[in-house]
Amino acid sequence: MSTATVRVPAKINLCLGVGPVREDGYHPLATVYQAVDLHDEVRATSRDDDAITVAVHSELDVRSESVLVPEDDDNLAVKAARLLRETTGVMTGVDLAIRKVIPVAGGMAGGSADAAAALVACNDVWATGLSRAELEEIAAQLGSDVPFLLHGGNAIGGGRGETISPVLARGSYHWVFAMAHEGLSTKAVYAEFDRLNDGSRVPDPVVPDALLAALRAGDAEALGDALSNDLTEAALSLRPELQDTLEIGIEAGALGAILSGSGPTALFLASDEQHSLDIAFALSSAAGCADVVQSRGPVTGARSTS
Ligand code: ATP
Repeated sequence: MSTATVRVPAKINLCLGVGPVREDGYHPLATVYQAVDLHDEVRATSRDDDAITVAVHSELDVRSESVLVPEDDDNLAVKAARLLRETTGVMTGVDLAIRKVIPVAGGMAGGSADAAAALVACNDVWATGLSRAELEEIAAQLGSDVPFLLHGGNAIGGGRGETISPVLARGSYHWVFAMAHEGLSTKAVYAEFDRLNDGSRVPDPVVPDALLAALRAGDAEALGDALSNDLTEAALSLRPELQDTLEIGIEAGALGAILSGSGPTALFLASDEQHSLDIAFALSSAAGCADVVQSRGPVTGARSTS
């Protein structure tokens, strides 16, 4: 019996450009991902038979989030293990144990993170020996964010987010995350985006030059100004109270404030540790805010700890 434990970060989108819905139902994206210091952990233990099981232990303060995470074949970590097994022809099973810290349905790609971690952990315990590039190919079949979560750091995401390319970036950034009481379905936010844009021409998405320049220079103030998210209007239309959360962070002096991905987590850029503490303190009394977390980015992608 062999065991591997893998730590995997959450992602944020420093910009999220969303284009018109494609024929396959996906939206083309132009995004810059950053992996941040908020980690789930996936432990894989090989089995003698061919079963694949999953158990989820939630570390979240937020009310009964663990009930939202399936403990069956719908769990993205199980899907990742199954796809790796199909691709490599492995016959044995695995027990997966997930320690969940990334908010569920929070716009931080927690499920995709667990899928990326399961790929790395199972590749290890099954001794399948796939390279990172081969794992990235499998990751792209599992979901748009999964390849980036293997990769980590900062990266540009194209296609539907799964095509990642390097970005010249400098600096370490201080973030504050305001977690909402209840998750928001990514699918519902995109449907609202389509509804709001019905009849209008949605331009092809681009990564703003100002954002790339800010990252190249490691300039937190310029980065704060350049943060953007095309899903803001749709997410706020479904959750108008998120506007108050964003405003509280801005009043507390955040260099920039946006929703993370499809929301509802709001993210705020601070200039240093003390500033981050001040923003976190201001947000902690906000009605729409279930939990506040201070974090740093970028960090590495899914990595074995054992
Ligand atoms: P994204 O930012 O990629 O759009 P998200 O962070 O908003 O996603 P997730 O936390 O990835 O959302 O979860 C979305 C849904 O996926 C959950 O409601 C849950 O039912 C399902 N799911 C399946 N496997 C997992 C997992 N391992 N962790 C969390 N959610 C999972």
